[in-house]
Amino acid sequence: METKELTCIGCPMGCQISVDIENGTVVSVKGNSCKIGDNYARKEVVSPMRIVTSSVAVLSDKNAHPSNEVHYPRVSVKTASEVPKDKIMDVMDEIHRTHAVAPVKIGDIILQNVAGTGVAIIATKNS
Ligand code: SF4
Repeated sequence: METKELTCIGCPMGCQISVDIENGTVVSVKGNSCKIGDNYARKEVVSPMRIVTSSVAVLSDKNAHPSNEVHYPRVSVKTASEVPKDKIMDVMDEIHRTHAVAPVKIGDIILQNVAGTGVAIIATKNS
């Protein structure tokens, strides 16, 4: 049996959680103070997932080249849901290669199926 020690990221209490794993299956979770920690620990040891946040350039039209543009303020973006932790660098690479076209509204989809995850990148502010 293998035991993994985790710090729960579900709230600022940061409970220390021990997860016992046998043959790739979670057999016990200890140290959590609530169900959120239990869920987090079970998912974290098998397939860790994260929301990714970043920002993208905003251009005046889709054919504009970033180097020739009078820039609008960058717009903050995030993944619409969690993506696998081991895909974060691919997600960031794709975000850095894209841009939005003004005007941008909160919730607009900036990028579909980022890095093949099936998850969209959405704007988190207006621009
Ligand atoms: S287990 Fe519950 S109380 Fe503890 S850090 Fe996680 S969310 Fe917070």
